[in-house]
Amino acid sequence: MTLAIKAGLLIDGNGGEALKNAIVLVEGETITAVGPADKVAIPADAEIIDASGKTVMPGLIDCHVHMMINSAALEDHLFTPKAVTYYQAAENLKRTLRAGFTTIRDAGEADAGMRQSLEMGLITGPRLVVSGKIGQTGGLMELRYPSGSQIVNQESWRICDGVADVRKTVRKVLREEVDFVKTFATGGVVAPQGSPFIPEWTLPELQVMVEEASRRGVGVMAHAESAVGVKNALRAGVTSIEHGYALDQEAIDLFLEKDIFLVATLHISKVVAQRQASLSEVSKRKKEQLLKAQAGWFRKACQAGVKVALGSDAFIADMHGANAVELELMMDTGGISAMKAITAGTKNAAECCLLGDKIGTLEAGKAADILLVDGNPLDDITVLQHPERIRVYQAGIPVEE
Ligand SMILES: [Zn+2]
Repeated sequence: MTLAIKAGLLIDGNGGEALKNAIVLVEGETITAVGPADKVAIPADAEIIDASGKTVMPGLIDCHVHMMINSAALEDHLFTPKAVTYYQAAENLKRTLRAGFTTIRDAGEADAGMRQSLEMGLITGPRLVVSGKIGQTGGLMELRYPSGSQIVNQESWRICDGVADVRKTVRKVLREEVDFVKTFATGGVVAPQGSPFIPEWTLPELQVMVEEASRRGVGVMAHAESAVGVKNALRAGVTSIEHGYALDQEAIDLFLEKDIFLVATLHISKVVAQRQASLSEVSKRKKEQLLKAQAGWFRKACQAGVKVALGSDAFIADMHGANAVELELMMDTGGISAMKAITAGTKNAAECCLLGDKIGTLEAGKAADILLVDGNPLDDITVLQHPERIRVYQAGIPVEE
């Protein structure tokens, strides 16, 4: 069965000029042809989808989400049974897909079982890229409080130190069939100890992570909020830097030299700054310092030509399905065009997920993850924040609304 989508305006995800009056042909799960209406012949038996009044573009990709987290408040985590988080994730996945995000990379909780459940059709959601966490003693991952109390949980085995121990722990993470290793090259705001300004891991520890992961074709995504940690992770050759809020010129130069993605997670930064209620006093102070230090750096990185990929860091309930807000924030904060922002959420994001050969652009041979948008996001990027204005095709099949 061939689908022929008649596009009023076509954005193919590559970042070039949009094309008026184009045709996209889809055979089963795959795109077979894309081009101007006068160059692509529609087979006689094709089912025609008339999107001549709409914008047709690739399904969006969010490189940093947390499907199993709905709150920043510690109490919520402690009082939520594991099974509940899975059912919540099922709801979050559905909302995210309906919002036009056909692929997501989960930054540490969703596992290979969730990926399999999606592939089996047990639950509905985007194509899921999963990661397994690894952290150091005294770092962001370790839930140790100023009182001396420490939360020991099913993740505690992921804390390790020294090259040999890190190597072994990465190997344990890899046996969970993850697509990425997620690690922390600096502390963070919400964690009870450490700080966004304190680097975590030594360079050799980061290097051995990359070495072990890449042997299996697995990427490394590194949480890093300030310059020293960012530079350590860049030198180690990770796939992407998550957050990268407070940079310096040397970090920008290294991004360019190493050709590594910046996933700026501007949405969570804004949400945490706005809703400080759920933060501890310690976290509030850290957030204030960070906001001062990060001013202007994302714009400088964009202007210098650092590759950016869309990532919202959705871990608050109402951020799931609101992933497209990140596009608007990238434009406002980075001073980039709507087309550049869309490319960050399509082609760049696909490459950042190590799926550049399968998804991210509307081209023959790619998966038919396609959006029909009521409106022109190049004129008004916020049309993508309205799921009711987006018809989603996932691998050639229309997603139920
Ligand atoms: Zn995150």
